Amino acid sequence: MKIAICPGSFDPITLGHLDIIERAAVLFDEVIVLVASNKSKNTSFSIEERMELIRRCVSNKNVTVDCHSGLLVDYAREKGAVAIVKGLRAMSDFDYEFQQALTNKSLYPECETVFLTAKGENMFLSSSMVKQVCSLGGDISSFVPEEIVNDIYKRCKGEI
Ligand code: ADP
Repeated sequence: MKIAICPGSFDPITLGHLDIIERAAVLFDEVIVLVASNKSKNTSFSIEERMELIRRCVSNKNVTVDCHSGLLVDYAREKGAVAIVKGLRAMSDFDYEFQQALTNKSLYPECETVFLTAKGENMFLSSSMVKQVCSLGGDISSFVPEEIVNDIYKRCKGEI
């Protein structure tokens, strides 16, 4: 049973994240979408909210959602994961992701970091861009799964 982890902030999940998760679900037996609970990061959605939004968008039977506040490799080891799957957008992602992949490899050599290239239309898509467009009244429906569009509008308008 080959388990992979898709880690991230997912604040909130975008179509870019969803594409990577669904492609990972084809490659691995089980995929865990792992929401990082980094207390120093100011997020728009709480951990529970981010997990719930992800669950609403992902329909693959072999994908589960969890959260973790410690080292990613400790979680990966505990689950016996063989891979950490990350999406690569523009070159700007590369330096940081390369550093992280090398660090994780030295901490837990049995686990590989696998990079999937972002789809062309998702190359410049990020959670922060979605929130910025939304807070300025723009249309975010081509950036996030339709199931969660209204939740994001409401949060950006301060209604919830
Ligand atoms: P962000 O960088 O938007 O804050 P996360 O930290 O939640 O996103 O990212 C989690 C993972 O999802 C990372 O591997 C990141 O490269 C990937 N990812 C984020 N946005 C996209 C996208 N538009 N297309 C492909 N992968 C993405």
